[in-house]
Amino acid sequence: MAAIVIHNPADIDFDKPGKTHYQVAFHLDSSWGYSLVPLTVINGTAEQNAASLPGVAIFGGTHGNEYEGQIAVKRLCADLDPGEMCGRVILMPQLSETACRAHQRRSPEDGVNMNRAFPGNPGGTLSYRISNFVKTQIFPRARVVIDIHAGGKEAVFPLCTSFHPLADPAQHEETAAVARLFDTPFIFVYSRQMASGLLSDEAEDEGKIAIGGEFGHAEGANPRGVRHAYEGVNNVLRRYGMLTGTVVRIRPERDAPPRIVQAPNLADYIPAPRNGIWEPVVEPGQDVKQGELLGRLHDFSDHSAPALDIRAHKTGVVIAMLFAAQCEKGVTLYVIGEDYSR
Ligand SMILES: [Zn+2]
Repeated sequence: MAAIVIHNPADIDFDKPGKTHYQVAFHLDSSWGYSLVPLTVINGTAEQNAASLPGVAIFGGTHGNEYEGQIAVKRLCADLDPGEMCGRVILMPQLSETACRAHQRRSPEDGVNMNRAFPGNPGGTLSYRISNFVKTQIFPRARVVIDIHAGGKEAVFPLCTSFHPLADPAQHEETAAVARLFDTPFIFVYSRQMASGLLSDEAEDEGKIAIGGEFGHAEGANPRGVRHAYEGVNNVLRRYGMLTGTVVRIRPERDAPPRIVQAPNLADYIPAPRNGIWEPVVEPGQDVKQGELLGRLHDFSDHSAPALDIRAHKTGVVIAMLFAAQCEKGVTLYVIGEDYSR
């Protein structure tokens, strides 16, 4: 079934039973042509009690150099069978399609990071027009929003789903429950202060159940990450009764359920004190004690000079760490979280 090219969002039939593939055409900013953003809409045709179904939207490729989400969502576009489902699922495997084609974090068209472009602008550059499409066309049709990320070249995380601290207890409980369905070793409750304009910020502010996550790093395609993302989405659909069957463990060989770790304060996102070559000596996901050696910053301008030891500022879990050896002053070197308690 070939994808239908869409020039006017009003031509997308979000209610059509079954599965329809689209490419939504957004004109480029400075040349004749389009970013053809892939979109699949599935309306299940199985018997249902339609009233309780939430509508689920799933995004990959919000950053173009993060591949687990692109792969998992593309496979879900092919594999989800509307005959076995009820309710509506909207899938966008390469949201920043130009960034994905360029294998870059940001779109080369306008230099914009899609995950800082929300709520978007209908008269803005390409990334702002795409985020405005999500805000005005997708969000009104979904109560559960999942945006699948990875560390890219920025950082290494243990496999985790993530969300921000939420003031509304009901929204918090349901969000945490959905985050657990991905069965990752960690759930990371992270600071909203580090950045703004995130897809998940916007969805949260609308009261939706918004889940992010880091399913790999280093611009690879982590097989465990793809598995957690793909099966996690199936679990979400099962939880809401949109897909038959019960929620399954994704990695049954690991006994423990996901460990919820929080780092809501920027004081726990530690910047590099100077340029250097970063040699980590602990692994992401490792428990550390205050004062424990996390790594060394080397200065090769004088190979006889001692390295600068980087020690944990507090006891907790290393929930993120700089990936690249090349380290610039001010970049986030590591993040220490602590076990979540409300
Ligand atoms: Zn990302």
